[in-house]
Amino acid sequence: MSRGKVWLVGAGPGDPGLLTLRGARALAHCDTLVYDYLAAPAIVDLAPPDCERIYVGKKAGQHTLEQDEITALLVRLGAAGKQVVRLKGGDVFVFARGGEEARALAEAGIPFEIVPGITSAIAAPAYAGIPVTHRDHNTAFTVATGHEDPTKGYSSLDFAKLANRKATTIFLMAMGHLAGIVDQLRAHGLDGDTPVAVVHEGTKPSQRVVTATIDTIATEVERSGIGAPAVVVIGDVVTERAHLRWFDAQPLFGKRVLVTRPAHQGDDLAARLWEAGAEPILAPTIVVGPPDDRATARSAVERVRSFDWVAFTSRNGVDAFFDILGELGRDARAFGDVRIAAIGPKTAEALSRRGIRVDLVPAQYVGEAVAAELLARTATGDRVLVYRAQEAREILPEALRANGRAVEVVAAYRTRPIDDPELRAKAERADIVTFTSPSTITGFSHNVADAVALLANRTVAAIGPVTAAAARDAGIRVDVVAATFTVDGLLQALTERATV
Ligand code: SAH
Repeated sequence: MSRGKVWLVGAGPGDPGLLTLRGARALAHCDTLVYDYLAAPAIVDLAPPDCERIYVGKKAGQHTLEQDEITALLVRLGAAGKQVVRLKGGDVFVFARGGEEARALAEAGIPFEIVPGITSAIAAPAYAGIPVTHRDHNTAFTVATGHEDPTKGYSSLDFAKLANRKATTIFLMAMGHLAGIVDQLRAHGLDGDTPVAVVHEGTKPSQRVVTATIDTIATEVERSGIGAPAVVVIGDVVTERAHLRWFDAQPLFGKRVLVTRPAHQGDDLAARLWEAGAEPILAPTIVVGPPDDRATARSAVERVRSFDWVAFTSRNGVDAFFDILGELGRDARAFGDVRIAAIGPKTAEALSRRGIRVDLVPAQYVGEAVAAELLARTATGDRVLVYRAQEAREILPEALRANGRAVEVVAAYRTRPIDDPELRAKAERADIVTFTSPSTITGFSHNVADAVALLANRTVAAIGPVTAAAARDAGIRVDVVAATFTVDGLLQALTERATV
């Protein structure tokens, strides 16, 4: 049996972009994942699909497994030869019992590695625009647990030392005893007007920040209704938020955005949405699969050299072409000196990854523009292969044929609507719904019988004019159309709309 090993990995505070590269590598090769409630789903999803996922809970008050059982589980899995990732919110050694787990592994002789994570103690304030140290304010900070009840008299915290507005104090797990903690600090001489911030769900689209003073924070927090998980920051550094607020000031912050494109293409948009402070809701409405007529898709690849030009109208078409090429045991040399057109930069990029420099990308990423530019570069009788989706518009081949080009249109792939019984509920949660191709609209309507009504009071965004037209044909009002027909363009258009 191969030797087991356990990686104790800090997942960071919530924003999936804050996982370390080393943590991502450990996740990518593990066969067993043991995780708690603070770990972001987008990070849990980085483990291979066939990896065994064991949820061990650990939200205050609703432990799924006791700590001893978790520790024993890690030892057992390691001894059984598993490659285990133990994923924890924030850092593994900051109020996370990683020290105990590592000790048990060491004593059992099971190899382990520690992959530190970004702790919420520093990151949640940072995302609230609060630096934990600042030359103007302090020369030290303390991270303390607020888990103990300070009124019970057995607290091991030295409140006399913590009662210093010039030395930042950061409490984790303090929401249950906030009023008592504040009272203790005041009783030990901390000024009543010392600034305090409570950062709830820091680094996430659900982040909420309450700022007040020692005198008023308990009332303000109660009024706001926020609870755990939250980081409490006390000291003059909190005043910096007035100048440095950034994350929750972004135009798309907190917006819930439905991503309807296929799972393998949704990642890009989702990552960009996270960065903008929005919450992507992944709800693929279509799946890309082989066309009905596979033989023709294949024979066109075999005959590629007989054309003067090949036009690709999506990344999926490029993928399909190269999949077939691979099955034929061939590579990019199959193109010879056939010229190649791509509808837009993503399609061109997919080709470039395979060593193909495209000859033509139109200024506007639509069929009309490809047609116009291809006509300018070809002559009557030139042979053009249009390798595209089965259910595509006829504009490109028609324009070429009308001008005497010899066009062969081949369906490279077909998109099919996905049956997702949860799609409607996901859409209901969304503030913004994005459509990135006409087929995503078909797929959406396939699952949401009252699509038009449901979308009526949500922002609807389309990646370009063709998708927008398809939405309108389906009776759907479109609020935002990207000026550049890419994911970046879509994000920019959404940002601009949110800013006005
Ligand atoms: N190891 C973790 C801390 C675990 S203790 C770390 O380094 O961040 C759990 C406490 O962490 C919560 O009660 C809360 O105080 C804090 N916490 C974790 N994630 C948080 C987040 N996204 N926003 C605010 N507080 C968070």
